[in-house]
Amino acid sequence: MFKSATIKLTLFYVLAISTVCIIFSISVYGLASSRIDNEARRQVDIFQRFNAGEGSPASRPPSGQQPPAVNDEVRQEIRQQIQNDRNELLRNILIVNVFIVIFGGIASYFFAKATLKPIGSTMEKQRRFTADASHELRTPLTVMKAEIDLALEQDLSADELREVLVSNLEEVQRLSDLSEQLLALTSVEDSSICVEKLDLSSLVNEFVDSFEQKHDLNVDKNIEPQIHVLGEPSLLKNYMQILFDNAVKYSGEDQPVISVSLMKNSSYCVLVVRDEGIGIDLSDSDKIFDRFYRSNEAKKVGKQGYGLGLSLASQIAKKHGSKIHLDSKLGEYSKFSIQLKIA
Ligand code: ADP
Repeated sequence: MFKSATIKLTLFYVLAISTVCIIFSISVYGLASSRIDNEARRQVDIFQRFNAGEGSPASRPPSGQQPPAVNDEVRQEIRQQIQNDRNELLRNILIVNVFIVIFGGIASYFFAKATLKPIGSTMEKQRRFTADASHELRTPLTVMKAEIDLALEQDLSADELREVLVSNLEEVQRLSDLSEQLLALTSVEDSSICVEKLDLSSLVNEFVDSFEQKHDLNVDKNIEPQIHVLGEPSLLKNYMQILFDNAVKYSGEDQPVISVSLMKNSSYCVLVVRDEGIGIDLSDSDKIFDRFYRSNEAKKVGKQGYGLGLSLASQIAKKHGSKIHLDSKLGEYSKFSIQLKIA
């Protein structure tokens, strides 16, 4: 599909180049021919004045010699000369045009390819996203359908039916989580954010306190007070939520060891969330921010997820003019940092 689009765009560029060349060539040819005509007229004029004896003494023929008359033969010769000059001009213009169109065509092909490349990769991402989302939607639906079919075929007791309903409810919850994450992701990607000056130190402190309470655990905090940044509070909380949920989720069966630090230097502050869970293989470090990507280790430990959390977190960082930096060692720790400009 992109091959034909590239060819069409190339042809369009070539058409544009040819149109400019034709207009330019017609103007050059018109101007140059009128100069040739003027020059020829001037020569005939000089010749006539010369014949009439008006020329300078040096340009007059030696005495006793008869000057040639501007007869038809001379006129014919001048006309022929004009025609030759015009033909040569036309030939040169044509050669230059052919070169411009050939080289312009080759350059246009590469320009067309470069122009369509980002569109192509966006479309490919979109296609992969749709395929992955459909796959994730299909799995719980298939499970639900199979369970309901089985329940209808068999004569189940009330308790067994209840079990089916509980299992179906879990799948519905999964579907609802998925649609919420997809919505959150697309709404962050598609809209611009409303930033305000906020106290990031307080925001992080409040979030960590409520997280500790909810999960009944202790987080190691090292938060410098009074760090102000420009940001959207709900998105920054969302960012913290994703990293903390993952820290708990990927900490195995043990009590999670999580630490958070917020430090500032001259004009930036750095927010770091670290856990001592299963860790991430650094060869996965780029992919884990892709939508729907899940590492093999995460699948092995049997943790549920869609691979959308870090994708959303990296979009939030991007909207705040930053990028998530990952440092990790498989089986030891994972450390996610972002740098934000101090307001
Ligand atoms: P999900 O957790 O739903 O799979 P995420 O986008 O949040 O999706 O994470 C993507 C992948 O990155 C996870 O599947 C996991 O492999 C890896 N990952 C994220 N956070 C951690 C972490 N704290 N420790 C180890 N692996 C992690």
